[in-house]
Amino acid sequence: MILKDMNGFDFERVDKDVAILPVGSIERHGDHLPLGTDSELPEHIARRAAELTSAIVLPTIYYGSCHAMRGFPGTFDIDSEILFKYIECVLEEAWRNGIRLVVVLNGHGGNATPIQMAARQATSRTGLSVAVLDWWKDLGTGKKDLFSSPGHAGEDETSAMLAVDESKVNIYLAGRHEVTYPEVKVYSKKIDERLYEIALTGDAKKATKEKGEELISAAVEDLAKIVADLRNVLEL
Ligand SMILES: [Zn+2]
Repeated sequence: MILKDMNGFDFERVDKDVAILPVGSIERHGDHLPLGTDSELPEHIARRAAELTSAIVLPTIYYGSCHAMRGFPGTFDIDSEILFKYIECVLEEAWRNGIRLVVVLNGHGGNATPIQMAARQATSRTGLSVAVLDWWKDLGTGKKDLFSSPGHAGEDETSAMLAVDESKVNIYLAGRHEVTYPEVKVYSKKIDERLYEIALTGDAKKATKEKGEELISAAVEDLAKIVADLRNVLEL
């Protein structure tokens, strides 16, 4: 069930214990992937998993917090405090509308901290439960070996986007920029500029639709299982 497409009559009567909230970004992904990649991928996974679990899919939050790719045309960087408060409002409104568990399905690394802060605030103020997943880290983990050169707009993300909607990928513009990330989390413009010299890490040329389909299908199954497990734990 897709919240934005439901009418009020149906919304009042439907099982709305569990909802999935995709959160993404409008951000440069090399030259070949759509700017909305980080939003499209979790939205697609959420919609397919919701069909298996009778969860409601909340409208995707398309704008995210994008410090590292800020210098590239096409990136919209939302202040992380505003994003935190905005997501907190959405979570609290979900609770007020009868939703008891929100699974936040994040598609963009820069959103992780604002989402965690929002989840903490909303759950301390209401009875809502919130699960937070970074889809590329927490779902489809059994398929990671398919990709020898993953990264931002790299082999894995490009494969995933080819699987979700290949008409939005210009594979002829796919690039390669293999880098080593620092072993610890470092906040540094200097390092970001090196890592994201072409707004891409890894080798997007190695991407295939078939590998993407395997990854996305595994992610959908994993998410459906997580929702079912949480329903049990929370008795929903
Ligand atoms: Zn991305």
